[in-house]
Amino acid sequence: MRESSPMNAGDGAYSYTKNSTVQRDAASGVKDAIKEAIMENFDIEKVLGGLTTFTIADLGCSVGPNTVFAMESLLETVEHKCRQQGLEDREFQLLFNDQIGNDFNTLFAALPQPRSYFAAAVPGSFYGRLFPCSSVHIAYSSFAIHWLSKVPDELQRKGSAAWNAGRIHYSDDSSEAVLEAYADQFQRDMEAFFRARAQEIVPGGVMVIVVPAVPDGAITFSGGVAFRFLESILSDMVKEGVIEQDQVDSFNVPNVYPCVKDLRRVVERNGCFEIVKMEFGEVSIGKVEPENSIMIIRAIFEGCMANHFGAMVVNQLFVRAMQNKLQFAEILNSAGIQGTISQIMVVLKRI
Ligand code: SAH
Repeated sequence: MRESSPMNAGDGAYSYTKNSTVQRDAASGVKDAIKEAIMENFDIEKVLGGLTTFTIADLGCSVGPNTVFAMESLLETVEHKCRQQGLEDREFQLLFNDQIGNDFNTLFAALPQPRSYFAAAVPGSFYGRLFPCSSVHIAYSSFAIHWLSKVPDELQRKGSAAWNAGRIHYSDDSSEAVLEAYADQFQRDMEAFFRARAQEIVPGGVMVIVVPAVPDGAITFSGGVAFRFLESILSDMVKEGVIEQDQVDSFNVPNVYPCVKDLRRVVERNGCFEIVKMEFGEVSIGKVEPENSIMIIRAIFEGCMANHFGAMVVNQLFVRAMQNKLQFAEILNSAGIQGTISQIMVVLKRI
């Protein structure tokens, strides 16, 4: 797999557009804290250094509508701050980044018309350079940096100590080798991410990151019960001869859910950003019906699973998931995670 797959395209029943309320609520739960951090720690006049165009970038924007809510909320804050600093006649440019396979057409068709900003797509991986040197004033990324650039190589080598038999992700009962393979890839990816952003964000500029996460010291992501649920369906499909055991063993979701310590270490190693705020929290996402949860999981993971298993198998997997929705509801309830998601919100300032 060269790049992790984008979310489901379009605006149909299985699309990310129609199935991303968890990510929306998670990001809006920290909206005010982000606003406050920007109002208190950001000097627009200084950051613009005489320029009249203010640039905000969303990294891993997907199709919408969440990116539009988030970008417009940041824009509102910046406009407010501009008025406060007596800066009139500024122009605003919003840059929407995602992987090249992302459905940018649906995103741009949904942008409001008329609007008070210029909009452009920046396709490509955020693990490399995306923007010119010192050209971004605020970079934002929500629910995206937990996507690794690839599945760690060791997990795909049969016979390696990190062969993740029967599993599609990790939890605290995974082998050291599996945990290490994931952690090493995350470390390498984060180094690349921060190296690129340090070049692109102007001194005094801000980077905001929201990422699903675990508390310090923990390994298992609360939402990881969803992977367990999918594993049990895949296991049934192996027993029935629909797929091979090796296909399941060699599939691994390229996600890492970091803790505050992990992120702090990455920022400190990079050395180009000051931490303004870094908070772990359980954010309320309201009660999500099991059916909706399955649709959300499908919108997120169908692409990367279909690359591996083929579209027909993945369709069958999710049909079976729906048939077992009551069992999934029980799993969610007994894990005690109905109604919240654990995440880290980070506000950094480019030194
Ligand atoms: N920010 C949106 C979308 C989150 S879904 C929201 O909060 O709703 C995660 C997105 O990150 C996907 O669209 C995926 O394609 C994108 N993504 C994952 N890895 C990426 C990479 N290396 N470069 C750019 N985008 C990436």
